[in-house]
Amino acid sequence: MTRLERYALRPQSLWWFTFLLSIVIAGWTGSTRAQPVADRHQAGHSHGAHSHGKAEMELTIQGSAIRGLFRTPMDSLLGFEHAPKTDAQKKAVSDLRERLKNPAAWFVPTADAQCVVRSHEASSTLFSGAVKGAHSDLEYRFSFECAVPNALKGLEILALRDFRRLSEVRVQLVTDRGQRLVKMHKKSLDLAF
Ligand SMILES: [Zn+2]
Repeated sequence: MTRLERYALRPQSLWWFTFLLSIVIAGWTGSTRAQPVADRHQAGHSHGAHSHGKAEMELTIQGSAIRGLFRTPMDSLLGFEHAPKTDAQKKAVSDLRERLKNPAAWFVPTADAQCVVRSHEASSTLFSGAVKGAHSDLEYRFSFECAVPNALKGLEILALRDFRRLSEVRVQLVTDRGQRLVKMHKKSLDLAF
């Protein structure tokens, strides 16, 4: 029997082993319990879906079709996210809903491609009157159909120009050539495909 084996068989060392194991398990379960708190923090602040002044866009160019999903906190567009109270706030919401009826007022494909709006759908808890808590997002789906798809070279993101608080649009662009992430800013409105 080696010296190490003799040591391992001592009842005292078994006690130490159990003690250390219980600390490791306690630490592990403690860190898994803490996880959901960290996730909530991310969702509500600088990372993930809801970040004031920023928007996320999924854009797919396939043949003659352009399909998009644009998401941003309402604060980026209105300066508030609660149900409108004053007349000025009610007008701002009404103006926004009017503008959302026309995706071409937000995104302009290359003129030569002769694209026309095919569909649009805007949803927000602020529109449906179901605002819960402090935050509300806009989810805007739209599509264009282009008569001359070969001439389609890009998309101008007018929303960045027209909404003072909106400073960044992160575009997940999917084309025949693959997928890439493009960050657009106020000084770079023209997204090239
Ligand atoms: Zn918010």
